[in-house]
Amino acid sequence: EKMNVAIDGPAGAGKSTVARRVAAELGYVYVDTGAMYRAVTLAALREGIAPDEADKLKALVASIRIELKPGERGQTVYLNGEDVTEAIRGRDVTLIVSPLAANESVRAKLVELQRAMASERGIVMDGRDIGTHVLPDAELKIFLTASVQIRAQRRYQELPAEQRIPLAQLEAEIAERDRSDEQREISPLICAKDAIVVDSSELTIDEVVAVIIDLSRS
Ligand code: C5P
Repeated sequence: EKMNVAIDGPAGAGKSTVARRVAAELGYVYVDTGAMYRAVTLAALREGIAPDEADKLKALVASIRIELKPGERGQTVYLNGEDVTEAIRGRDVTLIVSPLAANESVRAKLVELQRAMASERGIVMDGRDIGTHVLPDAELKIFLTASVQIRAQRRYQELPAEQRIPLAQLEAEIAERDRSDEQREISPLICAKDAIVVDSSELTIDEVVAVIIDLSRS
């Protein structure tokens, strides 16, 4: 019997790496919902639309096509048929994705797509509002967190050379994105009442994956 697994938490807690590995071990499909908000953000940047231009964002989301295809190295993201998997990781996107994700039309469209993807179960979905809003009936909900210092350090080590910024600045940007995600009106980042909190500050990825796999079997 397949189930759905929701993994939420703040930026840089390791959600995507962990979710991808958990999905592989369970034979499930991994869905990175942050990538969907990033793809809409890339489309908005290209059209010169700012996060507070609600009417333009509404028209934008109605006109674009976002697709996720699970693949060997994880998930490929398409915007109107174009592979934007790399482009959505740029700093330009990261800096405005949170204010843009606060938009009602953007969230309505993406949540609809996410629920459709999970309708047959056997999904591991990571994001900010999966356990609280997108899949409130997911059988297993994890809230994956770590101290902001540790999240910043881990991100810093992953940054490609051309995106290097000082560690203190990276930490401030992560803290600001968390604050923005926690304080928006629609589906803010919050731990679901029935989620299990996993603090990865002192755990390796392997250990976090093992904890979640154990929980999925209990
Ligand atoms: O997961 P990632 O850090 O790529 O997500 C980028 C941004 O997308 C988050 O900071 C948040 O603003 C938004 N997001 C969201 N709801 C989700 C997933 C991501 O609002 N379910």
